[in-house]
Formats: sequence, C-alpha cells, structure tokens
Amino acid sequence: MSFEVTITELKSALPEQGWTQDAEKTAPFLCEWRGRWHGDTPLLLLPTTTKDVAAAVKICARHKTPITVQGGNTGLVGGQIPRGEILLSTMGLNKIRETDANNMHMICEAGVSLHAVQAAADNMGLKFPLSLASEGSCSIGGNLATNAGGVHVVKYGTARALTFGVEAVLADGSIFDGLAALRKDNTGIDLSQTLIGAEGTLGIITAASLKLFPKPRECVRALVAVDSPDAALALLGLVRCGDRLSMFELIPRLGLAYVTEHMVGHKDPFTAPHPWYVLAEWELYKRQATKGSTSRASHIGGEDPQNFAANILAKAVDNGLVRDAVIANSQAQSNALLALRENLSAAQKPIGATIKHDISVPIAKVPQFIARANAAVLKLVKHCRPLPFGHLGDGNIHYNIGQPENISGADFTAWEPHINDLVYNIVDGLGGSISAEHGIGVLKKQQLARRANPAKLRMMRQIKSALDPDNILNPRVLL
Ligand SMILES: Cc1cc2nc3c(=O)[nH]c(=O)nc-3n(C[C@H](O)[C@H](O)[C@H](O)COP(=O)(O)OP(=O)(O)OC[C@H]3O[C@@H](n4cnc5c(N)ncnc54)[C@H](O)[C@@H]3O)c2cc1C
Repeated sequence: MSFEVTITELKSALPEQGWTQDAEKTAPFLCEWRGRWHGDTPLLLLPTTTKDVAAAVKICARHKTPITVQGGNTGLVGGQIPRGEILLSTMGLNKIRETDANNMHMICEAGVSLHAVQAAADNMGLKFPLSLASEGSCSIGGNLATNAGGVHVVKYGTARALTFGVEAVLADGSIFDGLAALRKDNTGIDLSQTLIGAEGTLGIITAASLKLFPKPRECVRALVAVDSPDAALALLGLVRCGDRLSMFELIPRLGLAYVTEHMVGHKDPFTAPHPWYVLAEWELYKRQATKGSTSRASHIGGEDPQNFAANILAKAVDNGLVRDAVIANSQAQSNALLALRENLSAAQKPIGATIKHDISVPIAKVPQFIARANAAVLKLVKHCRPLPFGHLGDGNIHYNIGQPENISGADFTAWEPHINDLVYNIVDGLGGSISAEHGIGVLKKQQLARRANPAKLRMMRQIKSALDPDNILNPRVLL
C-alpha cells in the first residue's frame, strides 16, 4: 500500500506533535504485549483533540485510505495492530472534560486510562466499577470499543452498561455527539450503543459519558474452597445477597498451584490443597450509625465485614458446599487474594505454549461446559493441561489449555484449529458465545463468520457498509 498523498496531507493538517514516522517512537505501537502480533504503518497519528481526529479521518476518507485505531494496546485479539494502514492512537486524547457528582457522571476523552477514570471517580466520592487486570494501561475508548467485562460484571454489567453515551468520529470525518448524561432518552436507535462493542469498525470513539455509582463503605473478599464447579455454582445461588455480591471468580487447583509455584510473593492461604476455589467479594454500604456507638460494626451500619461474610457462608457450610474458607481480615490480605486470581494467566507462561479461549455459556451450564471441554481436549491431545478459570458469576470462562510436558510447544500449537473447533462446538451446543469479553478482532474473524447467526452477520455487514462504505476504519477487524 502506498498512501503518499494522504500522508503529505495528514502531516500538514495536524500539528507537528500530532504525527510521527520515527521508527523508534512507533515501535511500541506495532507490537501486541504478548508478541503474538507484529505490525507496520507508514504513519502514526497522535491527535490530542476530537477536531484533529475528524480532520485526519476526513483526509483518509477522501483518499479511501485505511486507518487502524489503537488505545492502550492491551487488546487480546489483534485488532489494534496495523498491517500497513495509517495508525491512529487515541492516547493523546487524555482529558477529563466534566465531572458531576450530583448527576453521578463523568465525561472523559477516549485515551484516559481506566485506572485514571477509577481514581477520578474515587476523588468525587463515587465509584467507576469497571475493573480489569490491564486497567493501568488500557484506555476507556478501548474498553468501550471492546465492551470490556472484568471482575465486577456480576454486579454492574459490562462497559456498555456503565455508559450514557459516546462522542465519535465517523468514517466520513463527521462528529457524532452522544455525550448527554441522560438516564432516559427514547428518541430512536441508540447510536452510542451501536458504536460500543463495534471494535472501531463503525467510528473512532473520542470521548465518553460514564455512569458513576455510590462508593461502598467497605469490600470484603473470601477465598472459598469447594469440591467442583457444580458446588461453586450452588454456592453462587446462596451468596448473592441481593446486589451485594460484586465478584465471583472460579479458580482450579492447577491455577492456584501455578501462581504460588511460578510467581514470586504469592502464597496458598490454605494449609491443604483443594480441587477448586471461588474468590468472592461483597460490597457493604454505610447505614445510619446507632447514636453514641463507636464500634467498627456500628460504623458500617451494624455489619462487620468479616462477620458479614462468615454469616453468608454459614448456610453454604451447613449445606456441605464449603470445604474451607479464608475471609480477608486486612486490605493486604484482600489484595493478596485478588492477586491470586489476577495472576492466573501470567503464571501459565512458564509451562510453555497455551491455547486460549474466552467463552460464555448460560451460568447454569458452566459445569457442563468444563466437564465436556476437558474430556474432549484430553481425548484429542493426551496429557494437555486444561485451566478453566474466571468469571463464573457471568458464565464467562477463560478456557486455557497448557501444552503437555512430553511434546514441544510448536507441536502443541499445531493442534490449535482442532482444539478451537472442539471447544467452540461445545460452546455452540450449550447456546454460548465464542467471545465473552475480548472481542473478535482479527483472531476470531473466521470462527465468527462460520458460527454467527446469518441474519446477525448480514445486519452487521449492512450497518458497516452504511456507516463506512469504503471500509476505511479498522478494515481487517471483526467482519
Ligand atoms: C493482563 C490483561 C488482562 C485483561 N483482562 C481483561 C478482562 O478482564 N476483561 C476484558 O474485557 N478484557 C481484558 N483484557 C483485554 C483488554 O485489556 C481489553 O480489551 C481493553 O478493553 C482494551 O483496551 P485498550 O485501550 O488497550 O484497546 P486496544 O488494545 O488499543 O484496542 C482494542 C480494540 O479496540 C479498538 N479501539 C481502541 N480504542 C478505540 C477507540 N477510541 N475508538 C474505536 N476503537 C478503538 C482497537 O482498534 C482494537 O480493535 C485484558 C488484557 C490484558 C493484557
């Protein structure tokens, strides 16, 4: 591809700091963090205003020049890495434009990191509940483009549920403004929601109006040992406690062993091993304190966090669902329990090659999915090491499979297409989704094309060609 004319026009339309062709500066934008995708671009655009994004897209539209959009570059399906297209990074769009504690909303630009959004909400005495292990690096624009999930979906929903609307530059360079922070707006098709989850194929999100929530007075976490995914599911039914359950993550023994053996500073909090674990978190809110009372329990409305968790778990203990449990009694212990979950993926690295899936099925079918998928992959590749873990509370399992010790990584990854088909056939059979959180990107395009409902695919293609007839926005992604 040669885009000489476009490049000349882009360079003169944007301020000098708004673009670069310097190989050293561009390099970090061209490689995905795990090294799975490497790309190239003739020009990296670094706009700092929506107006500059619009001006750049207008030029590209006129010349039908393709653009790849990138936020924090933490995506796991390759959509943010260019293959010769112009690369537009949103990381210069980094301002928080508006905060309103009464209306409980914040308007921030697309390149603001998720961590910065959380911190700004916290400063307002409120909470932005989206939480991912990549939150220090990922951008809010990327979170919305991928409709990110994370550990609090069980209570708050995915990124789209946390958003009033977005501002976006469309493929013709026009600006769509959906930033009004309205809790009710029935004026037709919700265009912001159409852009959310579209992985940058319909528009470049330049800002978002985000919903904020009351900040809990305290959170309490417990790591609960159980016999099986069935027991974990039954536990979920017993511990929801209205809307206070804010995390419910499944961890297999193998995963806990990897984290404690392969990563420094992590300890198994139990004295004996157990087959499965659940990391649960509940949020407690302040209630009116009893007059004159100074105890910690009255301070948080009569609920001491440890007692609260112990009481909730008591019924499950009586029902024989719980083998053992550790309830965090300090912030440090609470963080340590969360770190066991957050490091599961990284702790798998030392065992060699892994084949990963990010699937969802109806919550009640998670145990069936795990049993069937484990049996199928072990039959296909003897001694491979399945590691199903993650968001049981949302029916979303990260189904990673480690290579057997007796074959090479390359020999194992040669099985990837067969293993994918096995796993996705089981997912389809259970009425699930082949991408629960990470999106389709370039990684799962073929699987989507083969498996999606034909009417859904047709509608998606019609929307894409209506909004981007020359296919210039993320042209290799999703469809
Ligand atoms: C350690 C780790 C843990 C993770 N955990 C989770 C998790 O729990 N849940 C989860 O959902 N994901 C998770 N992810 C995946 C990833 O962090 C999310 O997909 C995140 O939302 C991507 O944001 P980003 O800014 O890095 O986007 P990028 O990686 O830059 O881009 C991702 C996609 O969005 C598009 N895009 C980016 N910004 C925009 C924009 N402003 N407008 C339009 N399109 C845009 C890109 O073109 C690309 O297709 C994890 C990743 C890592 C590395």
